[in-house]
Amino acid sequence: MTTLTYHRILPNLKEGSKYFDKANTVSVEIFEKQLSFLSKHYNILSIKDFLFYLNNSRKLEPRSILLTFDDGSVDCYNYAFPILKKYNLPAIVFLATGYIGTDKVFWWDKIKTWLRQTDRKEITLRLNGKSRKICLKTETDRIKAYGLFDEYMKQPKTNPDTFLNELKFILGVDNYKLERSAMNWEEVKEMQNFGISFGAHTVNHVNLARLDYENALLEIKESKEIIEDKLGERVKIFAYPYGGENDFLPIHVKIMRDLGFEAAFSSIEESIEIKNPFKLGRIHISGYKNLFIFKVKLTNFYPKLIRCVNLTKQLIAK
Ligand SMILES: [Zn+2]
Repeated sequence: MTTLTYHRILPNLKEGSKYFDKANTVSVEIFEKQLSFLSKHYNILSIKDFLFYLNNSRKLEPRSILLTFDDGSVDCYNYAFPILKKYNLPAIVFLATGYIGTDKVFWWDKIKTWLRQTDRKEITLRLNGKSRKICLKTETDRIKAYGLFDEYMKQPKTNPDTFLNELKFILGVDNYKLERSAMNWEEVKEMQNFGISFGAHTVNHVNLARLDYENALLEIKESKEIIEDKLGERVKIFAYPYGGENDFLPIHVKIMRDLGFEAAFSSIEESIEIKNPFKLGRIHISGYKNLFIFKVKLTNFYPKLIRCVNLTKQLIAK
């Protein structure tokens, strides 16, 4: 079985490039093609089916798929939800609850919006202790700059608030108003009424590995409790923000077991052969123009291919 991860669904690829984040964006048109294909050829599971399978070690139908969406972005409600309804498909949305129902803006939305709005053509700032000159003349330059900042923000030693304040100042974008990033609770409830399930994704979308025990516990516990309180349903699943090998630790798995979670998803690209229900792999989907790569990503072969590529990269790096 395979779990797919989506982040943003936006009206067209042009809009996607406007957000400087093609890797995390699927256009509405392509998303619809992907779901149309899946609804004909695959068995899309609800979280209830999946947990039943997990807890009873039942055999799943071949070609079983879970659809997941991370963060609770408002475009998930605006653009993904109508298509899920059209094909009558279940899905899971992992909510960073501190953003839901607020005007708060995810850091990646901040950086993308600032890069879109700044009139600076070149900036200089310190990254990893080195002074870097960054060109912002063309859209391609800005997309490249976004990639650099995105990578920097995800490093464990980065202080996100300090860096964002510095970047905002250097880009001269102090007064711009940003649009809300996340859905509100009415939108979440409307999706719940249709059959979409919700999982926890921390309160503040933090990298758990950077936190001490007490704060990690709070992030996990509070995000679970608020969803349960708002939706009147037990939350049994979690997705680790960022979700790479180094972004969560065994202690977080223990916290989740103690709090009554039944499964947690990483962003490590693996099919689900369930060895550890708290380290389930997912396949990242972005907006390929044709369905070929999408179809390859649905095969059992794909995670093996990724493993080979990563091993080869490590060998070359040595
Ligand atoms: Zn996330």
